[in-house]
Order: sequence, then structure tokens, then C-alpha cells
Amino acid sequence: MKKSFSKLTQSVHVGSVGDPLYGGLVNPIYTSSAYNYDEEILYPRYFNTPNQKAVVEKIAALENAQDGLLFSSGMAAIMTSIFALVKQGDHILFQDDLYGGTHHAALNELKRYGIDHSMVNVFDLQKFEIAIRPNTKVIYIETPSNPLLKITDIKGVARIARKHKIITIIDNTFASPVNQNPIDFGIDIVTHSGTKYIGGHSDLCCGVAVASKKLIEKIRASSMHFGGSLDAQAAYLIERSLKTIVLRVQQQNKNAMTLAKYLESETKVARVYYPGLKSNPRYAIAKKQMPGGFGGMLSFEIKGDPEKFLKKIKLIRKAISLGGVESTIAQPMKTSHAKLTASERKAAGISDKLLRFSVGIEDVNDLINDIKQAL
Ligand code: PLP
Repeated sequence: MKKSFSKLTQSVHVGSVGDPLYGGLVNPIYTSSAYNYDEEILYPRYFNTPNQKAVVEKIAALENAQDGLLFSSGMAAIMTSIFALVKQGDHILFQDDLYGGTHHAALNELKRYGIDHSMVNVFDLQKFEIAIRPNTKVIYIETPSNPLLKITDIKGVARIARKHKIITIIDNTFASPVNQNPIDFGIDIVTHSGTKYIGGHSDLCCGVAVASKKLIEKIRASSMHFGGSLDAQAAYLIERSLKTIVLRVQQQNKNAMTLAKYLESETKVARVYYPGLKSNPRYAIAKKQMPGGFGGMLSFEIKGDPEKFLKKIKLIRKAISLGGVESTIAQPMKTSHAKLTASERKAAGISDKLLRFSVGIEDVNDLINDIKQAL
């Protein structure tokens, strides 16, 4: 498919080859786990069956990547990519503001395999660079970050990493492939929790990693050992979801911007975190690296009791996870960051009153009215 096609066209057509036997428009679901091996060895755990490939082609096109791998969860994509690149004695440099699961995995898994790591504030790029060690093999960032929507300067980090010949990984889940394409800014590997915007309907769990062909082959070799592949039925549903990702995310961008502005003007709200607000100190960087929009995620702190607020909301659903067509809200201290200790959360700036809002595609006035009555 031509590179010149826009994301709207790519999301519908790339990888969707149709049904060659009956001339149907959509890809059949190829459930086989046993294939004739004369020409190519296809096997679900080799990450190369037809429905897996269709999803990877779409996401790689949307992310301007050469190739990719479809995993059974976002964490499978993240941890397999990391383990494919490091060995005992290596060091990984993480930005300090991360999704709780990644943070917890870094603290608890890597050490057991003799892999060292540090977590450093990435806002001051000079200090971040100083944290690089001779054995640093991977730099890992996430932007906008979960749950404070902090914006990391992607180009700045990629420049430093290239200078030191270090491979970069970014978790691009919050932005989605519609809003931000880190490979354009020099990042090597882009991961997504596909459970979020890629699935988009709160009914699937998957993950992806996209990169150059060379890096994907390296990760594929480890992926086949770790075995975190996805079955054809789920892969088909993801391909179906991807056909509307641009429409969904564009509406979520629009709704989130309106809601962020409303919340900023609301006297019962103490703080709003949204990269698209001009008051956000990193707005200029976000504008440059998120050409598609500022995303559907925002966080806020209310002055009153968040428990009472959550009991009163009616339309917006109290739920973990994010990126679905329906608006959901969660308290990071009880959900995404529950495994962190109170002092770790405090150090990360995550207050007990913080509410993380995943804005859906509903009529924004209905969402505002729901928040107003709950406040
Ligand atoms: N990255 C981010 C930013 C997330 O929010 C999550 C899950 O909430 C993950 C990664 C992990 O993805 P999964 O739950 O699909 O393994």
C-alpha cells in the first residue's frame, strides 16, 4: 500500500487482503495451528500466521515502521522486547514516570536476571544523559505517561541514545498510532498495549512492538521462546477494530480537549493534567511530537472526596484499563499504581485524589453534565 495514503485510508485497507476463495471483502479467520511447511513454516507461536500478519501490517503502516510483532498483551510486548535486547550485567535506563505494571516489572523482574536499571527524571535531558553507563543497552520512555500525562521530549532522547549507540523503546499506548509516531523522531522500537486504543472496545487484550526489520527479527527470536503470541480469532477482531481507529481517536481527541478546558475552569477541580492545554508546561513539545492530536487521556484532582465523586457518576463508568469507546474513570492509587508503595506513589507525584479519565466517543455535553452533577 502506497505510503502517500493517509492514516484514514491505511487503517481500512493495509493488510486487509480479503477472501481469495470466495471473493469476500474481509480477511477470513485462519484458525489453523498446523500448516504445510513446503514454502514457509507458519505457526502461531512464530508470530507469522495470516491474521497476525494482517494486524502487524496495519499497525506498522500507521507507525511508519518496517515490521512488527503481535503479542497476547502489552506487557508481553514490553518485556519480550526488553529481554530480547539485554543480558546479565547490562543496564537499562528508564524514565521515572511509567505505567505501574512496567515500573513494578522493572523493580521486580530485571534484578533477578542480573540486569541493572535506573529510573531518572527525563525532563532535564542533561541529567538524563549523565545517568547513562558504559553498560547501558536500552533507554525506555513513555509519553504521554500514565497517569500524569507527562510529556517526554522524544527527539531529544533519541538524539542522546544514538550518540551513545543505545537502543530506544517507547511505550506509545496513550498517544495511539494516530496521534504520535515516535519512529519519525528517531526512536527504535515502539510498543503498545493494544488492549487500549488499538482494540478500542474494552473487550480484547493484546500488545504490539514495531520497529525496523532487523530489530523485529531479533525480538522475534526471543518471542518464539517466551511464546506470548495471540490466537487468530482475537487477531481478527483487532484487525476489525483497527479499521476505525482513526475515527475513534479523532473523536476522543476532540472530546478530551473540550473536557480538559471545562475541568480547568471548574472551581471544584484542583488540577488538570492534559498535554493539549496551553497552560501545560510541556505544551510546545507535545504539539510538535503529537501532530495527530493530544489524545483521549487526561487526569485531574478534585477538591472534594474522590470516593463520593466516583459513587455519583452515572454515564462515565468506574473501570480499570482505558482507550475504549466508552468513557471510564479510575483512581490510579487503587488500579494502575496499586502495586507501588505509598511513598513510591508520592515520589512519582501520584496523589490519592488523582482521577484518571479515559475519554470515550460519546457526546461531550453528556460527559460534562455527568461530571457536573457528580461534583
Ligand atoms: N502500557 C501502558 C501505558 C498501560 O496503560 C498498560 C496497561 O494498562 C500497559 C502498558 C500494559 O498493557 P497490558 O495490560 O495489555 O499488558
